[in-house]
Amino acid sequence: MNPACARCGKTVYPTEKISCLDKNWHKGCFHCEVCKMTLNMKNYKGYDKKPYCNAHYPKTSFTIVTDTPENLRLKQQSELQSQRKRLWVRFPGNTC
Ligand SMILES: [Zn+2]
Ligand SMILES: [Zn+2]
Repeated sequence: MNPACARCGKTVYPTEKISCLDKNWHKGCFHCEVCKMTLNMKNYKGYDKKPYCNAHYPKTSFTIVTDTPENLRLKQQSELQSQRKRLWVRFPGNTC
């Protein structure tokens, strides 16, 4: 039986399979978590069972910083703000 792709969940056939990080991937689905650059067995960097390119491979310090409650709060705030902005764009001059 063919395994399911760790990225898209669809069946991976042997001709398009990359087996990495204890998972199976389509060649096209094996890309950097951040910039979506397609990776291969030679240039990927595995972190937390996910592939990253050389530039976006999370350093240990980076992970600690993003996981602090303060940073999570800031992130949620900026997400809320961008949602509000989107609403404003969708209903311009909706005051009459
Ligand atoms: Zn896939
Ligand atoms: Zn990247």
